Amino acid sequence: MAKTGRISHTQLFVGSEGSGNLALAVAFAQYVNCTNQQETDSCGECPSCVKFDKLVHPDLHFTVPTISPYKQTKELTEDWREAFLKNPYLSNYDWLQTMDNNANKQGNITREECRDIISRLSLTSYEATFKTQIIWMAEYLDTAGNILLKLLEEPPLGTLIILVANNTEKVLPTILSRAQTVKIPKLTDSDIEHALQTHHQCLPQKASDIARLADGDYNLALSLLEVEHDGYFEMFSTWMRFCFGGKVEDLQKWVDELSGSGREYVKNFIGYTTQMMRAAFIFKYGDPKLLRVNEQERQFLIKFSSFISEHNLGQIIESLDEAVVSTERNANLKILFLNLSLYIGRQLKGGQKAA
Ligand SMILES: [Zn+2]
Repeated sequence: MAKTGRISHTQLFVGSEGSGNLALAVAFAQYVNCTNQQETDSCGECPSCVKFDKLVHPDLHFTVPTISPYKQTKELTEDWREAFLKNPYLSNYDWLQTMDNNANKQGNITREECRDIISRLSLTSYEATFKTQIIWMAEYLDTAGNILLKLLEEPPLGTLIILVANNTEKVLPTILSRAQTVKIPKLTDSDIEHALQTHHQCLPQKASDIARLADGDYNLALSLLEVEHDGYFEMFSTWMRFCFGGKVEDLQKWVDELSGSGREYVKNFIGYTTQMMRAAFIFKYGDPKLLRVNEQERQFLIKFSSFISEHNLGQIIESLDEAVVSTERNANLKILFLNLSLYIGRQLKGGQKAA
């Protein structure tokens, strides 16, 4: 797009969490403003690039979700720079956690912020070819976002607006229709493996295990790198045995151990469990070649898959998805997992009967 010179003034970069949609939006803005563009990337050395690298270019503007008492991104400029530079693949959840979000409030892009966008884009640029406004989590532009429609349709000359979203279904249709959509594909396992080995000195086997679990989400891969994930399989196989056995004392002990491991670990563990449930289903009904499991997991699935059927898979996955949300919202983990265990136990027994 940059090379043909036909750059749409309003674009929407859509990609799933951890795909790098935000990172790519910043890189794209840097590239179109680089004064010494290279074949496949910015030069990294011209005055414009130097400022972009630190996010201090006067013509680069961000709008990101905020929670009260904050109303505008400009109140959080330094925090935002620090968070993005530390991890350009960060999730909305990670970002909101940097604001003492103990109550787990949902983020928002406020009316005040929208007015601020309009006023700053009405001023001429300082030095850039493209004065750039990046709006991250365009999903949060609710009705307040409608005051931006005219601007999105016809931004001032030399202005580039990049909206970034994970899910177009949650973006206002009036906004969708005014932006050119650019789909950002999920990262491949080998991309993630390569990055973990190159940038984080991760050993090949571990990099491959993490890439498989992360399923294209580089941010998740980074958090898996931090937590000790080698214990997931043990934790999971014990859990399933206890769920099926249904003994409350066993479950209680297991739940105590899990809930002492921290919310980040718990979230990733639920992700692992979801993946194993899907794997069991594929093992039974699908093409085992599609399975992304290691040998130990494959052995486990031989027996376990007989408990998973088309009748219970959806229900189990749904309960796990809900558990992720509850974990993020500070639910009591002991109660949550005890209930979940009993529920999954019933589902597994039902699955066995159905089979
Ligand atoms: Zn440059």
